[in-house]
Amino acid sequence: MYSLKPIVYLVAAAVAVVLIMFLSRVNIDSGIQFPVKAQRESYRLGTIVRITLYGYDREKLDKALTQAMDEIERLENLFSVNIALSDVSLVNRASGDYPVKVSEETGFLIEKALAWSEQTEGSFDPTIGEIVKLWGIGTKKASIPAPAPLKRALSLTDFRKVLVTHGKSGIFIETAKGQRIDLGGIAKGYVTDKVKELLIKDGVSSALIDLGGNIAVLGSSPTSRKWKLGLQHPFMPRGEYFGIVEVSDISVVTSGPYERYFESGGVKYHHIFNPATGYPAKSDLRSVTIISENSTDADALSTALFVMGLDKSISFLHKLKNIEAVLVAERPQGIIVHVTQGLKDAFVLKDPDMKIEPAVQ
Ligand code: ADP
Ligand code: MG
Repeated sequence: MYSLKPIVYLVAAAVAVVLIMFLSRVNIDSGIQFPVKAQRESYRLGTIVRITLYGYDREKLDKALTQAMDEIERLENLFSVNIALSDVSLVNRASGDYPVKVSEETGFLIEKALAWSEQTEGSFDPTIGEIVKLWGIGTKKASIPAPAPLKRALSLTDFRKVLVTHGKSGIFIETAKGQRIDLGGIAKGYVTDKVKELLIKDGVSSALIDLGGNIAVLGSSPTSRKWKLGLQHPFMPRGEYFGIVEVSDISVVTSGPYERYFESGGVKYHHIFNPATGYPAKSDLRSVTIISENSTDADALSTALFVMGLDKSISFLHKLKNIEAVLVAERPQGIIVHVTQGLKDAFVLKDPDMKIEPAVQ
């Protein structure tokens, strides 16, 4: 009797070779190709931006990376309040004295910011600029403002007073006198969307865009179909996660008071302000993650929900479509995590000291 063993081994080896060829997308002419990773990092938009691409053509990836970085710089030059000739700086220089013509993109983003202000009843408000400037959080001059200037800055914070005009010669923005626009709560999301668009146009099929925690993933991850993204732990050092989401083709944006703050008299003053008080929002939330196809929306919402606090956020989320969230709140019973229905299977809690709580309906 002949043993069948060698044949079984042979068949198994052939299947393995075919499988490897399939998985590594063999190019018959040039042999087996494994995906390459191309990454670039830079300090932009007041944070570290990092773009990672996977593919089979390094040259193509490098070209796409250069274009993506150039795109970030181009948009920063439109939206940054720290760049003297940006559209936003020009609007703030006029500050109600005359209407300022802005690029179509700036006009779009300001209108988007105003629309979210309306929807969130002012929890999000891009006219927060005077308050942001007064506190100076994230700068060397960070301090608690005196009551009089704070009162003035507070009276200037009102998104309803911004006028957007679509004329024959373009879009014009006119604020109320003294108002200052700050797109810090939404611009990174918009830039993320634009970079993603550009990468798709460049034929990139696998990418991770990370603009300082404002993340978008494109296509499949190199190791599995979905991307496993860690959510920054609000009480632990950078890089420590409280949970993981498994997602694809989506944006994941987290806001938290731990991002930027200063301490005075044992109190931490952070960078997300309540437009109704002029003070850092006294929220029970410690971290807000919004998961949405559109990063601009996710960015505005992560800021707005933080201001609202847990209960209001949960009822607000019920009104929105295609927006998922992971909210971490400090409650008397401990640290609780609220996860929206659509995310239940995609979220894994890693911190045993936190507890997933059902929605307060
Ligand atoms: P991060 O910039 O850390 O990602 P956010 O997206 O929450 O965090 O944005 C915070 C920034 O948004 C602040 O630095 C400030 O420029 C601006 N901002 C603060 N409070 C508000 C608010 N209530 N509405 C709109 N923008 C805000
Ligand atoms: Mg935001």
